[in-house]
Amino acid sequence: MDKNEFKELKEQLLSKKKNGYDLLPREERAAMEDYCAGYMRFLDVSKTERLCAAEAVRMAEAKGYRPYSPGMSLEAGDRVYVCNRGKAVMLAHIGRQSLAEGIQLAAAHIDSPRLDLKPNPLYEDSELAYFKTHYYGGIRKYQWVTIPLALHGVVALKDGSRVTVRIGEEKGEPRLVITDLLPHLGAAQNKKPLAEAVPGETLNLLLGSEPIGGEEESGRVKLAVMKLLHEKYGILEDDLTSAELEAVPAVKACDIGLDRSLIGAYGHDDRVCAYAALKALLDLEEAPEKTAVCILADKEEIGSDGVTGMQSAAFDTFVEDLCAAQDVALRACFGKSFCLSADVTAAFDPNFPDVFEKRNESQLNYGVGLCKYTGARGKSGASDADAETVAYVRRLFDEAGVIWQISELGKVDAGGGGTVAMYMANRNISTLDAGVPVLSMHAPFETVAKLDCYETYKAMRAVFQVKVWRG
Ligand code: MN
Ligand code: MN
Repeated sequence: MDKNEFKELKEQLLSKKKNGYDLLPREERAAMEDYCAGYMRFLDVSKTERLCAAEAVRMAEAKGYRPYSPGMSLEAGDRVYVCNRGKAVMLAHIGRQSLAEGIQLAAAHIDSPRLDLKPNPLYEDSELAYFKTHYYGGIRKYQWVTIPLALHGVVALKDGSRVTVRIGEEKGEPRLVITDLLPHLGAAQNKKPLAEAVPGETLNLLLGSEPIGGEEESGRVKLAVMKLLHEKYGILEDDLTSAELEAVPAVKACDIGLDRSLIGAYGHDDRVCAYAALKALLDLEEAPEKTAVCILADKEEIGSDGVTGMQSAAFDTFVEDLCAAQDVALRACFGKSFCLSADVTAAFDPNFPDVFEKRNESQLNYGVGLCKYTGARGKSGASDADAETVAYVRRLFDEAGVIWQISELGKVDAGGGGTVAMYMANRNISTLDAGVPVLSMHAPFETVAKLDCYETYKAMRAVFQVKVWRG
């Protein structure tokens, strides 16, 4: 075989993985930057699932979406949404085809790892006041100490009213912090495994230090802090028992790198896919062929259980109600539907090559990352999409000019993870995972590549614009 023959054969037979910057048309660069600027604004006002849901509703209403109520008559082109308890959102753009032909879904989650307050959070120790926390989702505890934190959430009162709490987000406002041991006294802690060096019960938020009342009194700093909370929010200590208050990093999204090609922020997992799915749906100008549905779910980071999680009947109820208006059985609709489970994946990190398998890893700037399966210990907990579904998505993305890659989450025995994919697939919906590769996933400050964010948006758009689905 001569040199040219070899070259031709190689060109013809072997796959060509390319950096997205070698594929992205020049004229799309501005659109990518615009998109990412919008995403960064979205992140800064969406630090919790409640804030994220509220922002999604605001954006949807601005695009003509109306609150859905069962029995509403709907026509092709109608846009509706349901906000489930202020923490999860389901949106639909009614298509030209009957729901009996199935729907095109994108499902992302809007909860992120964080520190929740315990039901009896407030205490004083050594004349310092603290909130006790219970971490939510898979965090590496050592990453959450000695960084500025903000507090967001609601306090629900017995009379049915609700107080919104927001501390430490604006310029000039105080922040909260969790302290850590100084290196001078860290000898014993240094010897502990990373997972044990910062015990969960030491993740206590420092709230204040100035006492009130006479020096003969006790609990003076705790009372001082409670007085401030009462003045600002009108709440009592007992009201904290019916509250959802979340400590999150008090940082704003920003460009990372001298070339500004990356975005650093809290909560990319999974707001980066949630925004892509939402924006792609809202940008559909005309009635899609098939009804397009975007789900922004809560509770993914703790297993998708609960009334606002992806396993909740709230989703089935929503689609069943839409189906009822067209005299279509829900099971018939699901059986012909397709879902892109839009969740982030791990990006290869050259600082930690040992946990990745270099032939099956996601790389920054190589586009939206597909995962045929997630799971751990032999694909346990994965829905494992069938080959036909993967082929369908390959074709869909290639035809739409989406830059994509396919990978696993690390080495086989290194660990693993899950997404909402299996809960969609369990409903008899063909489902495939796809999302943005992330560096330092679940850290208080995660990093993604702008190109991958934009390609994920294009991927969602392609799903919603489908005319024929193989099912
Ligand atoms: Mn996720
Ligand atoms: Mn996660």
